[in-house]
Amino acid sequence: MLAMNYRGPYRVRVDHKPMPEIQHPRDAIVQVTRACICGSDLHLYHGMVPDTRVGSTFGHEFIGIVREVGTAVENLKVGDKVLVPFNIACGQCVFCRQGLFANCHESNSMSTAVGGIFGYSHIAGGFDGGQAEYVRVPYADVGPTVIPEGMNDEDALLLTDVLPTGYQAAEMGGIKTGDTVVVFGAGPVGIMAARCAWLFGAGRVIVIDHLEYRLEFVKKYAPCEAYNFKSMDDPVVFIKRMTDWLGADVCIDAVGSDACGNAMQTITGKKLLLQAGSATALHWAINSVKKGGIVSIVGVYGPTDNLVPIGNVVNKGITVRANQTSVKRLLPRLIEHIQNGILSPKDIITHRFALEDIAEAYHIFSSKLDACIKPVLVP
Ligand code: NAD
Ligand code: ZN
Repeated sequence: MLAMNYRGPYRVRVDHKPMPEIQHPRDAIVQVTRACICGSDLHLYHGMVPDTRVGSTFGHEFIGIVREVGTAVENLKVGDKVLVPFNIACGQCVFCRQGLFANCHESNSMSTAVGGIFGYSHIAGGFDGGQAEYVRVPYADVGPTVIPEGMNDEDALLLTDVLPTGYQAAEMGGIKTGDTVVVFGAGPVGIMAARCAWLFGAGRVIVIDHLEYRLEFVKKYAPCEAYNFKSMDDPVVFIKRMTDWLGADVCIDAVGSDACGNAMQTITGKKLLLQAGSATALHWAINSVKKGGIVSIVGVYGPTDNLVPIGNVVNKGITVRANQTSVKRLLPRLIEHIQNGILSPKDIITHRFALEDIAEAYHIFSSKLDACIKPVLVP
C-alpha cells in the first residue's frame, strides 16, 4: 500500500509499505478515504517532537471504511464508514472511565503523560498513522464511530480532532455569559475555538494572529474581531486597552510551539522579539488575562518550550487548564451541532491533495502559502 514516509525534518514522501495486519483481537484495519494534515503534524515535520523516527507514517485525523475486524470487536463490521478519533484509548483504565481518553494509561507504554496517538512519534506510542491507504486501528471497539447517515464526509473528518479541540479549548476556558475571550492563533484549531466560544456564552471574541488571510477568514466564520499582532507594539497592552485595562476573562492558546520561529521573524526589530521556542503566545495569554482569569492551552509544546512566566500565574491567581483533546467524550454533542446546522467544520478546508502529493501538501501548509487553512489528503 502507499503511505506517507517521514525521512527527517522537512522531508516527507509517499512510499510502498507493507499492508497493516490485525495484531490483537481488538484491532481493526481501516481503508482511509480522507486524511488531514494538522498543525500538530507540523511539530513533527519541523523536528520538534522527540523520538520521531525515520520511516514512520504520520496522520491522526482520518476517516475510512472498515475492511477487517479482530475477533473481539463487536460494535463494528466490515464495510462500516467510520471517523476515527486521534486518541488511541483502551476505554477501560482509570482515565478512560473519566472520559480522559487523551490520557489513557494502557495505550501508550512509552509515556505516563499522553495516551496513544496515531502517527505521533514514539512518545505517543509509536503507532503508524492514517496518511496512508490503510491503517491499523488498535482498540477499535472504543474510538471509531460510524459516520451518521447523511453527514458530509469532510464534516466527519474534522470531528476526529480540530472541531473537538476547539470546543474543548472553549470548554476548559470556563467561559461565562458575557465573557471576553481572546484566542491566540487563527489556524484550524483557533478558528474552531473562536466559533465554539459563542456556544458557551461569550460576549466578545477576539482572535490574534499575523496571517491576514486567516484573520479575514475567522472574522467571517466565527464571527469575531481579529487583529494582526505585527501591527501592535505589544499585544498584551493592546488587549488590556480593549478591556478597560483589566485583561480578558479567558485566553486560549491555540498556537503551541513555534519551533521554527516563523511568527517571531515577522516582528524582528521590535521590542517584542522573543526566541523561537519561547512560547510567545502562551506568554501573551498569561500576561493579558485578567487577575483570577483562566488560560486554556490546547497548543502543543515540545521540550524547547519550558520557559513559562510562572510568577505571573501565581501573582495574578490565574487558573491554567490544558490537555490533549478527548475526542470521543465530545462526539455526541458535536455531531448534534453539525446535524442541527449550528457548526459546519468542513468550511475551513481550503486544499485537497492526492496522497502522492504529500510533500507539496506539507510544504504549502507549513509555509502558510496559497491562503491554506486546512489541507486534506485523498488516498
Ligand atoms: P496552525 O499551524 O495551522 O495554526 C497556528 C496559527 O498560530 C498560525 O496561523 C500562526 O500564524 C499563529 N501564530 C503563531 N505564533 C503566534 C502568536 N505568537 N500569537 C498568535 N498567533 C500565532 O495549527 P493548528 O492546526 O491550528 O493547531 C494549533 C495548535 O494546536 C498546534 O500547536 C497543534 O499542535 C495544537 N493541537 C492540539 C490539539 C490537542 O488535542 N490539544 C489538537 C490539535 C492541534
Ligand atoms: Zn490534529
